[in-house]
Amino acid sequence: MNILFIGPPGSGKGTQSKRLQDRFGLVHLSTGDMFREAITRQTQVGMKAKGFMDRGEYVPDSVVIDLIRDRLSAPDCKQGFILDGFPRTEPQAEALDGLLAGMGMKLDAIFQFDVAKRVLVERLSSRRVCRNCGSTVSQDQVESVGAECSKDSAKKCDFYQRSDDAPEVVGRRIEVYENQTAPIVGFYSKKPGFLKVDADQQPDAVYGILERALGPA
Ligand code: AMP
Repeated sequence: MNILFIGPPGSGKGTQSKRLQDRFGLVHLSTGDMFREAITRQTQVGMKAKGFMDRGEYVPDSVVIDLIRDRLSAPDCKQGFILDGFPRTEPQAEALDGLLAGMGMKLDAIFQFDVAKRVLVERLSSRRVCRNCGSTVSQDQVESVGAECSKDSAKKCDFYQRSDDAPEVVGRRIEVYENQTAPIVGFYSKKPGFLKVDADQQPDAVYGILERALGPA
């Protein structure tokens, strides 16, 4: 099963990806995570992406498309995947269509995460991410979660604030989404398997909607 999540930053795509990944045995393909990893490892892709990410802008299409082409052709993607954060522009959407057709694959479900702008700003500005396992909590939960890290159960999560979640960058990211990504929602809304999800709700409620739409694992 191949799933596409489309929605603004802070709409919960990453959180839901992690849950569906475990439930349905899918590979989570987050281009944002791939770029952050490339930056940590100081690769060429990371160097190209860093400035754009720090400003809350999109990395050029050619860089993103090359990255996802390589990743999608890896054998583990045959078991099914969740695309989280790609495509974000019209050329990326066209490239994805071509890539999937070339590999004899298709998207089985397309979920649009719909969240009010005010909620996005609040969520992003207070979001903290675990350096090791990638799980996210809001700032006020950092102290209360005794959660053991899912990467290493002997440790607790090590939370930090993503540099692009800083208040001065958050507004720019939402604006870029509205200008460049919102227009491709119309293209996907006509495809089979499309569902618009009210993602203003609690994560459990959103997960319930996705699970019902996807049916049994
Ligand atoms: P995310 O973790 O999905 O919020 O992505 C973080 C940042 O990575 C974005 O603000 C962009 O700078 C970059 N990025 C991730 N995916 C894409 C994409 N499909 N196209 C362009 N830039 C991307």
